[in-house]
Amino acid sequence: MLPVIALVGRPNVGKSTLFNRLTKSRDALVADYSGLTRDRKYGEGRLGERDYMVVDTGGISGDEDGIDYKMAEQSLLAIDEADIVLFLVDGRAGLNPADEMIADHLRRCEKESYMVVNKTDGLDPDVAMSDFYGLGLSEPLPIAASHGRGVTQLIEHVLQDI
Ligand code: GDP
Ligand code: MG
Repeated sequence: MLPVIALVGRPNVGKSTLFNRLTKSRDALVADYSGLTRDRKYGEGRLGERDYMVVDTGGISGDEDGIDYKMAEQSLLAIDEADIVLFLVDGRAGLNPADEMIADHLRRCEKESYMVVNKTDGLDPDVAMSDFYGLGLSEPLPIAASHGRGVTQLIEHVLQDI
């Protein structure tokens, strides 16, 4: 069985962008419209000789009814199935109530999870990450998914622990 890495976080933080970069597929729908990828989506990634599965999710918005509820449910299922959870947040937008809700869930479910601060391109990574230390999860890891910055280091870091 390949290790399964789930990408979770509220809509629009860059999960599908990271998924596409890791799987080198263009299949996940990346859009400027938040919440367009509504279901879980699976792809295979590789780091050196190491293969892994990546799961993209529609996002948890913190306001779960209707379609948002379905998306949140998919995310919770993806967390359940995963060996490793990458919890993405938006380093430009800063901390959001939906982030706090997801952090709450992750603290309680005892999964191997990592805080990933995306969209740090053109930002001072220390400033971008400062908002997120208070969530009580792992040390935030800065990336820029659309540029690829920090992505290889991130995967190296999370795969070394399993
Ligand atoms: P998702 O809803 O979490 O799957 O987010 P998407 O992957 O669809 O990305 C949402 C928006 O953020 C898109 O317009 C992306 O181009 C943009 N985005 C993703 N990653 C980055 C990044 O590293 N830097 C910047 N500046 N924008 C990004
Ligand atoms: Mg998406």
